[in-house]
Amino acid sequence: LHDALPICDFVDNTSHELKSPLTSILGFAQMLDEEEGLSPEKRKAYIGYILQDATRMMAVIENILLLQKDTPPKADDIIEIDLRQTAEEVRQSLLPQCQEHGIHIMVEGNLRLCAREQDMWDLLRNLMANAVHYGRQGGYVQVSLVNRELSVRDNGIGISSEHLPRIFEKFYRADAARKESAGGTGLGLSIVAGIVNRYGGSIHVDSTLGEGSCFTVFFPEESAEESA
Ligand code: ADP
Repeated sequence: LHDALPICDFVDNTSHELKSPLTSILGFAQMLDEEEGLSPEKRKAYIGYILQDATRMMAVIENILLLQKDTPPKADDIIEIDLRQTAEEVRQSLLPQCQEHGIHIMVEGNLRLCAREQDMWDLLRNLMANAVHYGRQGGYVQVSLVNRELSVRDNGIGISSEHLPRIFEKFYRADAARKESAGGTGLGLSIVAGIVNRYGGSIHVDSTLGEGSCFTVFFPEESAEESA
């Protein structure tokens, strides 16, 4: 796992990720304030940009807070989780995006393990949301739960081998051009890697550009949390 960025890089990246939407918010707010006789269409468009960038800032901050919460779960919070049920709930939460892109999510198999519910939700939500987000129009997302293994497969845009080793780094995004069009913060997979580490597991990615990706998480036979 490619985890810890030096703190100065983290601060640099974070400031950049927050500063660019904020610069645009300030710019449009200033234009709303100063431009005389602004047409209702322009006014609506400017407000639209402000809302979009403010939403993006909110997403970055929420993800940073999630990274910050990267602490071992308290014994009290550990319960037996039915990952199949969590995957079904995540599937429900992604229905609007799935409908928009005609993507079908399938969930198969079963896996129960002792964990903090929020961790398993964040893990599945990030992997499944990525599979939809980087999926192809009319494509599929297949979630499989077999033995102690969880995999999320898609037939979307895939990741080139040059980017693959770096996708778990904080703020890393495979393609700068994609960044502009597809939104996202580049923090989702760092959050996933943090959770997997915390449960003593490992994560593996298979991906081919233009064909799709498969993220597989292995959970150890009995994690420290389970025996606690
Ligand atoms: P984000 O999706 O917010 O950019 P992530 O940390 O979740 O950030 O992912 C990092 C990068 O890995 C993404 O920008 C994308 O380029 C690539 N990626 C992640 N999941 C997939 C996937 N299922 N298919 C293709 N690319 C992916």
